[in-house]
Amino acid sequence: MRYANVVLDIPTRSLDGAFCYAVPMGLGSVVVVGTTVLVPFSHRDVVGYVVGITDGPADGVDPDRVLPVRQVLADAAFDEVAAGVAAWIAHEYACPLCDAVRPFLAPGQKVRVVRASADSPWELVSEKAGPVDVRWASLTEAGASFEPARNASRQREVVEALRRGPQRVAELAAMISGASTAVTALARRGVVIVEERRQVRGREGTSLSSAAAPRPEHLTDGQLDALAAIDGARERGAGDVVLVDGVTGSGKTEVYLDAIEHALATGRGALVLVPEISLTAQTVGRFRSRFGDDVAVLHSRLSAGERFDQWDLVRRGEAHVVVGARSALFAPLRDPGLIIIDEEHEGSYKQDSSPRYHAREVAARMARERGCALVLGSATPSLESLRRCEVGSFRGAAWTRVSMPERPGAAELPKVTIVDMAEQFRRGAHSVFSASLADALGRVAQRREKAVLLLNRRGFANFLMCRECGCVPECPHCSTALTYHERTHSLMCHSCGRSWPVRAFPDPSTRCPNCGSRYLAAFGVGTQRVEDELRMLLPDDVEVIRMDADATRTKGAHQRLLEQFDAAECAVLVGTQMIAKGLDFPDVTLVGVINADTMLKLPDFRAAERTYDLLEQVSGRAGRGDRTGEVIVQTYWATHPAIRAVVHHERDTFLVPELDERSDAGYPPFGRLANVVVWGKNASAVSDASARMAAYVREEVEGRPGWEVLGPADCAKARVKDNVRRHVMVKAPVDADLGGVLSSCAARLGGGMGINMALDIDAYDMA
Ligand code: ADP
Ligand code: ZN
Ligand code: ZN
Repeated sequence: MRYANVVLDIPTRSLDGAFCYAVPMGLGSVVVVGTTVLVPFSHRDVVGYVVGITDGPADGVDPDRVLPVRQVLADAAFDEVAAGVAAWIAHEYACPLCDAVRPFLAPGQKVRVVRASADSPWELVSEKAGPVDVRWASLTEAGASFEPARNASRQREVVEALRRGPQRVAELAAMISGASTAVTALARRGVVIVEERRQVRGREGTSLSSAAAPRPEHLTDGQLDALAAIDGARERGAGDVVLVDGVTGSGKTEVYLDAIEHALATGRGALVLVPEISLTAQTVGRFRSRFGDDVAVLHSRLSAGERFDQWDLVRRGEAHVVVGARSALFAPLRDPGLIIIDEEHEGSYKQDSSPRYHAREVAARMARERGCALVLGSATPSLESLRRCEVGSFRGAAWTRVSMPERPGAAELPKVTIVDMAEQFRRGAHSVFSASLADALGRVAQRREKAVLLLNRRGFANFLMCRECGCVPECPHCSTALTYHERTHSLMCHSCGRSWPVRAFPDPSTRCPNCGSRYLAAFGVGTQRVEDELRMLLPDDVEVIRMDADATRTKGAHQRLLEQFDAAECAVLVGTQMIAKGLDFPDVTLVGVINADTMLKLPDFRAAERTYDLLEQVSGRAGRGDRTGEVIVQTYWATHPAIRAVVHHERDTFLVPELDERSDAGYPPFGRLANVVVWGKNASAVSDASARMAAYVREEVEGRPGWEVLGPADCAKARVKDNVRRHVMVKAPVDADLGGVLSSCAARLGGGMGINMALDIDAYDMA
């Protein structure tokens, strides 16, 4: 008798671990690790996932009382290694086991089951995602010489059509009336054979000019170094990590392509993660042009059917290179030699719903379990990755940094100019565009070139800012920027929970605490306004294309706008963060940043890092071709290290003071940080639960060095959809078992009471 360890899909922390079920004789070969099954649990049937198969019942389980697996609902989606990684995720990110298993399932698979009648089998409900089989007809060997009867004209037409090669039956039927009947008759006589072939959805093409960049003749020295380091790490097969630290346009993608080629040559595949927004046809095109149909693409803009087909190609071993967004990490690739994470610093690699994993950390774990290499690439690596390379190892794997400081050939990094907007304001210039930016845009129009304008949307109008000196009031206790709340006209600190009426800070006046100016205002501009001012500024024959959340809501809009920009002769692309990444248009000669510093004041310790990343990345959009590029950065905070660093592309200008601050405060990369958010309709219940949670964690970590519990305090978004939100922040040493501690405190708190709680370990979003 065989037994299956099954993780039940009941998302609660109180059901920790898998349950043992007997595998009935009839299901012996179909119940394997990775299958979705229906099992009895507490007088009903529930959906579960098989994470292990054993010959005897689990320890302490009485074989006579083990219940049988009722039915198999879906084929295996993952293997034993993946099941192990899921268990690790559940512990590390303190989430229910079934939440950690779900990302490994087929796209579109739901937990709900239905059946046609009381005695038919249960079926899983899924987004219309199942495979689509298409019937193909082709001539058999006997068919080659077959002569249909004189009066069988339809059969004759069908045979003639098939002499040119196999055809879809549906297509034949569309061309020849009565073809289906003829095909059936011919098949019976052994002339034609009809096969079901899997139709593959989601193989879109591209019309972007740079998609099929030719293979360069010579790699740069930096590229050769990177490639050698990656090959070495793959051959060692121990989960070693290579950080490719290459300036924008230094040819990182080219390195990935070659490294994958080497992996494929040894019979192993590759998982490639890129941020969702840079997963354009441009990126995909480069992989397709190198590896053709060996590539499967997975991202959220595909339909459910397309995603399933791409995923299924991987499962069936027909595609060995997977390119996709964060969740592509869980694709059922049997033997990856490489896991590659491009733009590894991107915050979008952290999932903001359960399981709240970070793709970099899961990939590192997976690389160790699968015996492959992890490649991280970025022009602005995360401080976590830089730190681990500095130390040389992390969690048992070696971390190596390879630097690629130059662009290949003649392409040079663009010249960056900072414009102090406070000074412009004092001189009476109130336009969105400074004189320098307006002039530069005029020159682009004259030379018939292209420009990209970035409007930094994050952290908009949530702050009071002095328009004369750019000062934003900070909490005297936490050195965190105070958030402005319009409803109560107050300033609030989201680290310690203190708040001040605007008039009382720091003394009873509405003046700027720094320079005494009265121009203290919550202000901001939208992309729409930039677009309008731009049209007034520029001649009519310059195309203005706006790309923001509004303009890209419909399927394919993002792609269409990029193609429009690509095809234009002379154009300006105005957009939010989404334009900063990955775009490679050789004819962009000007990049303007409208407001560089809105993000700097977010109540988030990564605010400066994000600002630096964004500016360096967006600067990288200029001068990728033969013509040199120019970058103009408008800011109210020209002296901030994150902004100064971008001028000379000198990372240390930003890094050195930033690391000092992080180290003093025990923030990552020198420590870990978890954000425990409690929310619900009943304010006192939320208040009580968050206070108890904070008390339990304090009790648990009492006396352990490097641990600190902050709060509870109101969240920056203190009220969302009538829910009151409070949070507790927990700092811990880098090697601490943060997941274990928070799980046990959460278990002690228990459920119910009308409150919800999210344990966000290694949190990215503190709002
Ligand atoms: P990154 O991924 O670092 O931004 P890419 O791989 O996209 O850089 O390369 C930037 C541009 O330089 C691309 O157009 C690419 O085709 C080209 N390129 C890359 N490597 C070389 C090389 N060794 N020689 C010439 N051109 C190269
Ligand atoms: Zn404070
Ligand atoms: Zn001021």
